[in-house]
Amino acid sequence: MYYHKNQNKLLNNLLKQLFHEKDWKSRAEAARQLGFLKDGRATNLLCRALNSEKDPNVVMKIIEAMGNIGDPKATMKIIEKLKEESEKAIVNKYFIINAIEALKKLKDKRALIFIGHYINSEDDELREIAKNAFEIIEPARIIICPYCYTKIDLDSKFCKECGEKLFFK
Ligand SMILES: [Zn+2]
Repeated sequence: MYYHKNQNKLLNNLLKQLFHEKDWKSRAEAARQLGFLKDGRATNLLCRALNSEKDPNVVMKIIEAMGNIGDPKATMKIIEKLKEESEKAIVNKYFIINAIEALKKLKDKRALIFIGHYINSEDDELREIAKNAFEIIEPARIIICPYCYTKIDLDSKFCKECGEKLFFK
């Protein structure tokens, strides 16, 4: 009972802080704490905050919070911000990494095509983060052929190595 009451109050106070505080550090802190609260009700308002927020530090904290809350309703909004950043003349690599980390937590397959863009990045860090996110969101569907022990894709009907039929379906 008290828990719910306090949670609502805390949620409202943090949202108020995020939308109205003049100091960016206070807004960033509100976003960070909203992430810790893991309350799905905050997701829609965090999406709205991303529409109006101008400070890139706060934007990054909001995206991070969306990842921690884990509601895939945030996916397309994060992708929108990721695209915006990637089209800038000078791209902040840490903005991209932060967004990919959040998308990884949301495990929404709609994000794969955008994350895939970084899988062949020339930047080692970006490439590793993108690969890792891909593995988390879409784990390799690999099985072992019971006849020749070759690794094959789960969707195959026949073993590419020995030609054995794999499933009775
Ligand atoms: Zn085989």
